[in-house]
Amino acid sequence: MTDDTDSRKDTADTPVLIAGGGPVGLALATELGLRGIACVLAEKRDGSLPVPKMSQASTRSMEFCRRWGIAEQVRNAVWSASHALDFVYLTSLTGFELARQRVPSYAARGHLPYSPEGPTHCPQIFFDPILAGRAKSLPGVSLRYNTALTGFTQDSGGVTATLADSVGGAEETLRAAYLVGCDGPGGLVREALDIPLDGLGTIARSINIFFRSPSLAALHDKGWARFYRTIDETGCWGELIAIDGEALWRLTVFHDSSEAFDAGAYLRRCAGQPFEYEIISAQPWDRRDYVAERYGQGRVFIAGDSAHQCSPTGGLGMHTGVEEAVNLAWKIEAVLRGWGGAALLDSYGPERRPIALRNVELSTQSYRNITGIPAVQHITEPGAAGEEARAAFGRQLADTQLYSVVDHHKVQYCYEDSPVCIPDGTPPPEEGVEYVPSARPGTRAPHAWIEEGTSTVDLFGDGFVLLRLGAAPPSGQVLEDAAAARGVPLRIVALEDEGIAGIYQQPLVLVRPDGHVAWRGPAVPEDALALIDRVRGAA
Ligand SMILES: Cc1cc2nc3c(=O)[nH]c(=O)nc-3n(C[C@H](O)[C@H](O)[C@H](O)COP(=O)(O)OP(=O)(O)OC[C@H]3O[C@@H](n4cnc5c(N)ncnc54)[C@H](O)[C@@H]3O)c2cc1C
Repeated sequence: MTDDTDSRKDTADTPVLIAGGGPVGLALATELGLRGIACVLAEKRDGSLPVPKMSQASTRSMEFCRRWGIAEQVRNAVWSASHALDFVYLTSLTGFELARQRVPSYAARGHLPYSPEGPTHCPQIFFDPILAGRAKSLPGVSLRYNTALTGFTQDSGGVTATLADSVGGAEETLRAAYLVGCDGPGGLVREALDIPLDGLGTIARSINIFFRSPSLAALHDKGWARFYRTIDETGCWGELIAIDGEALWRLTVFHDSSEAFDAGAYLRRCAGQPFEYEIISAQPWDRRDYVAERYGQGRVFIAGDSAHQCSPTGGLGMHTGVEEAVNLAWKIEAVLRGWGGAALLDSYGPERRPIALRNVELSTQSYRNITGIPAVQHITEPGAAGEEARAAFGRQLADTQLYSVVDHHKVQYCYEDSPVCIPDGTPPPEEGVEYVPSARPGTRAPHAWIEEGTSTVDLFGDGFVLLRLGAAPPSGQVLEDAAAARGVPLRIVALEDEGIAGIYQQPLVLVRPDGHVAWRGPAVPEDALALIDRVRGAA
């Protein structure tokens, strides 16, 4: 779909066309809108969501929501602040509890050491409309539902896309400087660019049963939890998730490839007895493991599930896609405004693809750990044999951390080998269960409270920020002048607090508009222009 012979320099109808209005397309529209970059988002459906896929916005996604001004709304959308967020391992809801990973409620958890936010339960049927509302509120953002991207060509001046009205079928042509395919698994944009997928492919055929049951919570004695994982003599076969903390639930059956399945039988097996329910939908789906070999071509990029798909075990799908939207948005802005160099947009794939590979691998590993929980005879039986089986099983499951992804690993990720970050030769911190803050170039700049309610994370988003840290940091004037000479927006922020200086480890730290460290050092290097050119992709 590339036609490089056409070198028209025509005026685009819109700077950016986004195909797909899932959470990643909406995140990109919001980021661009906040940066003053107009965009058209074309979504082929009407904007309503039939099923909740994503249920948890990750800590990093919540940091973005905080910047977009919707964190409170997302946090308060459905889940009660006093409901625990535990993972419970049980034979059935009315059966025996085997183990429990305690995850405190919002009210009880207090501040996390690594973020001003925290993982937040807000299933997609509630999350997407909040994000769509924010995107729509921004001048220059146009959300067009019932509008499908049906094809495109690109040339050196832009992208010409055809859009079709999903209801009436009327077609139109739209010219954009850039096209971003956020069009989900099997999306047209990746396929048109003929980008192959790397990975294991389908690792299981699973079933989602979305149902309503206002009486289910009162049926059992396990209390509110986010996940109830069910284990019987066949092993760990499913997980029930509380969708709205009231009446909506989703049961995922990990593996069932049969054409005809009995959704009601699965619900009764999970509850351990008959109960009243209304099935809203029961759908088989492929649990996949893949990452696209490239993240775009020319003026066309892909992001989100279009670029990768992972097992939901770990809550890394939307998380990864939203980070991509944020990575791409400031680079598009920089290039459109003229201060981004030719290599800036080229850095999108090299920075993001390794993160997606890692997240997909972690998700598959987590799925295998959960479904690899061994089957134990007698585990559901009352009496001595059952008690012995459950006690042995509980001991095996003591390290329940194995069955989810450590939260701070999702926050502190680093663009190693980025062409637009300047490494300082320090090694990465060990990735253990304990959080060790890091401000190595490439890493998401670490959180520290500056004052009540204000985090270092809140400083970043617009242009570059040069942090001057500690009691007597060197002047950043030369770097500010170099940035001004290249038209790069840069603000200097002085933070005297020695605790924060200790976390960042150098007195000067340059942070990008997406909140990642681009460079740090004891003083501005002699060739400040070269530094600025490198981080703006013009070196
Ligand atoms: C059971 C389950 C649980 C999950 N739980 C979590 C979780 O807890 N946390 C998490 O971070 N992630 C989770 N995920 C993953 C998450 O749901 C996805 O990663 C996320 O929805 C991807 O967003 P997206 O915008 O890239 O794609 P999608 O949500 O698939 O959206 C793509 C959009 O593009 C539209 N579209 C497609 N083609 C076109 C076209 N040609 N023109 C216009 N529009 C088009 C589609 O209609 C769709 O609205 C889960 C997934 C599943 C299946």
